This record gives sequence, C-alpha cells and structure tokens, in this order.
Amino acid sequence: METKKAICMWCHSHCPVSVTVDDGKLVHVEAFKGHPHFAVFDRAVTACPRARGAGEWFHHPDRLTHPLKRVGDRGSGKWETISWEQALDEIADKVRQLRERYGPETLASSSGTYRTHDEYRSRFLNLFGTPNHVGQGQICFGVSNLVSAALVGWTIAFTKIHPETKCVMLCGANPPGGARILWFPILDAQKRGAKLIVVDPRRTEAAERADIWLQLRPGTDTALYMGMINIIIKEGLYDREFVDKWCHGFEKLAERAEEYPLEEVSEITWVPKEKILEAARTFGTSRPAAVFNAMGVEHLSNSIQALHARFILPAITGNIDVKGGALIRPPHPSFISGFDVELNDALPLEQKNKAIGAERFRFQTHTGYDLVMENVIRVWGKAFSKCHTAFAHAPGVYRAMLTGQPHPVRAMITLSSNPMVTQANSKLVYKALKSLDLYVVMDFWLTPSADLADYVLPAASWLERPTVNTSNDIASYVDAGDAIFPPRVDGKYERRTDFDFWRGLGIRLGQEQHWPWQSLEESYDYRLAPLGYTLKQFIEQKGGYDSVRAEYRQYERVGFGTPTGKIELYSTIFDKLGYDPLPRYKEPAESHLSTPEVAKDYPFILITGGRFWPLYHSEHRQIDGWRRQHPDPITQINPKTASELGIEDGDWVWLETPRGRMRQRCRHFEGIDPRVVHAEHGWWFPELPGEEPWLHGAWESNCNVLTDDNPDHCNEISGGWPLRAGLCKVYKAKTW
Ligand code: SF4
Repeated sequence: METKKAICMWCHSHCPVSVTVDDGKLVHVEAFKGHPHFAVFDRAVTACPRARGAGEWFHHPDRLTHPLKRVGDRGSGKWETISWEQALDEIADKVRQLRERYGPETLASSSGTYRTHDEYRSRFLNLFGTPNHVGQGQICFGVSNLVSAALVGWTIAFTKIHPETKCVMLCGANPPGGARILWFPILDAQKRGAKLIVVDPRRTEAAERADIWLQLRPGTDTALYMGMINIIIKEGLYDREFVDKWCHGFEKLAERAEEYPLEEVSEITWVPKEKILEAARTFGTSRPAAVFNAMGVEHLSNSIQALHARFILPAITGNIDVKGGALIRPPHPSFISGFDVELNDALPLEQKNKAIGAERFRFQTHTGYDLVMENVIRVWGKAFSKCHTAFAHAPGVYRAMLTGQPHPVRAMITLSSNPMVTQANSKLVYKALKSLDLYVVMDFWLTPSADLADYVLPAASWLERPTVNTSNDIASYVDAGDAIFPPRVDGKYERRTDFDFWRGLGIRLGQEQHWPWQSLEESYDYRLAPLGYTLKQFIEQKGGYDSVRAEYRQYERVGFGTPTGKIELYSTIFDKLGYDPLPRYKEPAESHLSTPEVAKDYPFILITGGRFWPLYHSEHRQIDGWRRQHPDPITQINPKTASELGIEDGDWVWLETPRGRMRQRCRHFEGIDPRVVHAEHGWWFPELPGEEPWLHGAWESNCNVLTDDNPDHCNEISGGWPLRAGLCKVYKAKTW
C-alpha cells in the first residue's frame, strides 16, 4: 500500500489529494492532510463523488492505450494502432508540408478548461508561428480574468471568503454545482450573519440559500448591475474616499448609470423594483463584500459589459484588496510561471496580427492581452499566462476551415477539449473538422471529436503525471503533486503527457534548442529551482505548497496595474481599442425584442450549461458509477409551461432553434420562469457506436446543436459567443 500527494484536475477546485494504491489498484482518494487549507479541501473531497469513484475512472477499459491512426474514411471508426514515434513523425511531416504551402497560421489548436498545462502548448505554437489557438477560456474565466486585469490591474475574479465577509454576491454562479471549495465557506459566512445575494434566472442550490434571489431575465445582467450601481451612487452608499483617491472616471460612470433608473431596469430584467433596491442597499452597506461570477455572465452576447459592471460594484464600494472582499493576490515571485514558459515574444507581431477575428474582436487577442499586461507587469513584475486568456476567434477559425478566409486553416490539434460537443454551433464545427487536411486529437477517450480525427493520441491523466497548479499563474501559490501511476506499462498502455507531445512535435519541427527538459518533471525542477527545490524535494520537504503572504491594500504601496494606476471604472484600454469605455446594456442578440420575427416561431428563452454532479462539461459519461447518478440529459421546464404543452415530468422533449434540434428528458422545475427553459450541456453517449452517423451520439442531446456562433451575435469586444439567452421552441417527443 502506498499513498502519495497529487492534484486532482477534474474540476476547478484543483483539490490537493492523497491517493492510495494497493497492488497497482487505486483504492482511495482523500484530501491531503499536510495542506495549509486542508479544512476547506477536506469538505470538498469528502463530498465529491468523483473522488470516491476515481478508481473506476482510472482503470476503465475504454481509456485510450496507444496512438491510433485512421485507416478508413474520416469518421468511419476504422483505426490501426501505431507507435508514438510513428505518430509524431507522421504528424510532424504533415504539419511541415502544410506550413510550407499555407504558412504557419494554417495550424489551429483547441483547448479546454485547464485540465492540462497549456503553457507548453503556447510555447510550441509561438515557436511554430501560429496565432490560431481557440479555447474555452474565451467564455470561461479567461475573459473574467482579462476584464478584471484591464480594470483593476490583476484578476479579482476568484474570491476568497473570510470570517470578516459580511455579504456575498453570486452572479450567474452556483458554487455547489461546480466549486464547492467556495461554497462551504459561503455557508459558514451565512451562519455568521453574512448576507447572500444570488443573481440567477434559475432557483439553483445557491439561490435556494440566498437572502436575496434576483431572478432576472437571461441576458440582462448589465442592466441589473448598472441599475444597482445607479442606486448605490444616488443614495451615497459608495466609498467616497476610496473612489476619489483610487478610481478613474467616477463622474462619467455616474452619468452613464443614470441611464438605468429603477423602473426601467425592472422592466428590462423582470426583477421587481423592491428586490433590486434591497440588493443594492444590502450590497452597498455590508462591508466587506465579495462578488463572484461564473459562466452565467460570461456566456452572454453582452458579456464584457456585464463583467465590467460586475467589477465596478466591489470597486466603488471600497471592497478591493480588503480582507473579506475582493483580494488582489499577486503572482508567486519565484516560481517560473506559465507566462515565462510560453515564450510569447517568440511569435512575431506580423503573425500575432494574423489571428483570425483579431481585427474585429480586439480585446481577448494578443493585441488586447499585450495592452493589458504591460501595465500589469509594471506593477506586479509578471503577467498571467496567455494560453487561457488570448485567442483567435473560434467561430471565425471554424469558418476559415470551410472558406479559406481570411486565410486557409487546414490543420487542427485538439488537446483536452471536445469541440464537437462543447463549441457553439456543432453542425458547423462538424463540417469544418471534416474538411481538414489534418486533424489530431489527444484525449483520454474516443470522443465525438476524436471520432473525426486522423490521429488519436492517449493522454496521461492527472494520476499519471506530476502537476504544479498555479491556476494559470493567477494564484499567489504553487501547489504540486506527484504522478501516482506511470503513464506507460509495458504490454498494456503507453500514454504521454501533453508536455511530451508538444516537445516531441516541436523537436521534429526544428524547436530542439527550446525544449531542453527531457520530461515534465525536469521542466518543473527548472521552474521550482528559484525556490531552492526540485519537484520531488518540494513535495517531500514542503508538502508541495508555497504561497505569498497575504497582504491587504497593496495599492497604497504600488498602485493598480492599469494605465492610470487607478481602478478604471472608465476603461482607457477599451477606449484605446475603440470600444465603449463604460458598460452599456444591449438586448441579447436573439430575443423577443431584438428579433421579434424569430420569437414568433421560437417563443421561449433558452439557457444552456448549468453544472450538474457528478459529470462535468462533456466528461465522465462512460463511468457507470457516476452515470447511474445522472443517466439522462435533463431540460428544466416550468410545470405551468409543461402543462400547456402537454409535457409530463420525465417525458422526452425536442428543443429546437433556427440552428437545429435535439432531445432531452424534461424535468418539471418550479424554479425557472415559465418563459425560460434550461438545457444541460456536454451530452454525448460513449455507449453508442463511434462511426458515422453515430459519432457516439453527438447529435442526440447535444445542446450546442442549438446554440449560436454567428460572429454578428458575438460580444463585440471579446467575440464571446452567446450560450445563455437565445430563443427556442419545445415540444414533446413521441414515445410509446
Ligand atoms: S473533482 Fe472533486 S476532488 Fe477533484 S478537484 Fe473537483 S471537487 Fe476536488
């Protein structure tokens, strides 16, 4: 029996865990007792069905074991097993030929939500010369972090609840469904008397526990937050001294906020006036207060403006960098960060400017990122990593595969993502991937995306590789764990880390001098060297953890990492990029008001993507023990609506939008407005065949068949696509 520390990468809690192995079998996972925040992680891990079922996941017979090469038509499900050396040689040859013909920008790459160490991906792509990396960071925290950095000079997106916290406001976030390490401290704060405000169109578990639940019309967040800001300013509830000294553009903000009077905001958002007033007054008078947003805000066509307003709320109330409020946690000063590893300067400006969509959506690109980070670096000495922060525009990249415009994209490497199911407008993604000259997928399983690949490569999981977690450089700590199992067992399997893959490909493509480390562990040894440890020593002697001492009101010493050195309520960066420097509400791209002709046929508002245990995004559906807990994809419909449509609880229903239709099982749910329906995301069915037309059930219940990626409907600043406020119709699926 042996027990080692690892970092669980199955969700964003990134729990440090002790994993026990007996005779080659994973037998137990629990929170790592030597961690300084053990108490928080212990509750999360103890409550986590994934931790309990880790053995079933790890030893699952369907996990990929060796590289596969397509031998039939694309999507035919016919594969041969090949060696890693053959796979890397052939992929490198094809990539080289495509680069010679079309230029390096012909290679695209897609990433997921921080299951891997994508700084090594960025390093490869920068050295190769392509800016066409797309990923979920554009709609998942990468965007919150960058907006926050533009306004505050570092990210305050991730909040920490302290005993001092008097108020918590959750915006489109349901931590019990996705981030229990945040949820348990919120419950503790409530017990101590803190108020909980929840902004969500659904009565989620968090909304159930809220003191004030603002059940808004999906997509109207900006109007709501601007209405609250207006009340806070008008009633003098803001922190005048802090605003005078440390905020830029307050007068202009106050003027803009006046455009959001209570009556009008209530009409736009469907939230009763008295509730908005109560929320604004509670937030404005309960200090310190913490705000946390999640995807409910990021998945809107008005997302950047909503985030801008959400970050203004803690700023004008003086809740920045105070204990119990929004903490600025500077990067670890010694650890060699992801940003340093990425070699972002290796990508020439001429290539950066070729990022598809960068001219139109200028903020979350190399240009916008560089503009923000030059100020961040001035104050903090480091930026946070680019790999989940700056992108080419995904809808544009998939279109370029089909049209060759603005330049041909003929190859893609998908690592740690499943765009067939997780990218908006799956039908377009399918056509685009089918059209490629080369498609490579590295994953744990054969997914619907892998079904369309030329090469499928078996990835080492967090249990088979060492991990140093810094949450992509935004944490002020370094948390390291070991590999529990070897990635290669002779005669059984040979998986590799993403580091090995990018290094192997890079060396074959002339990058040898930039990959001096033989393994991921060696590269961590190098990155930990300034702390005086190798990875092994760091884990053995320091418990694998080191953090920067918490300091508050650091701005008094160093200012804010923004162009003005203050919190930019009025953003000079948005202004410089040619966008509105203040938040302004805009109707969702598709709604009863903006597209009334569409609403005639599609009368309901569709939101997608709420989290549900124990599955996560498009993962884990093949794990019997977890799937039994959530066997079917669920659509929530208000019983009143369901009864009008003749839909019983448990019936299968069709959901249809102008883009397509798919089926899920209906759950009657009182906690949703009768005019709104919510469909789960990430659904495919590993138990169905992989060959076309099945593609492991990619067309059955996949909500991204419904979602919109029309660039004209994306956020005009970031290019983020709207997953949460489109229009749909619902009807019963005939069953016998
Ligand atoms: S899956 Fe469970 S154990 Fe793993 S990080 Fe998430 S909460 Fe922690």
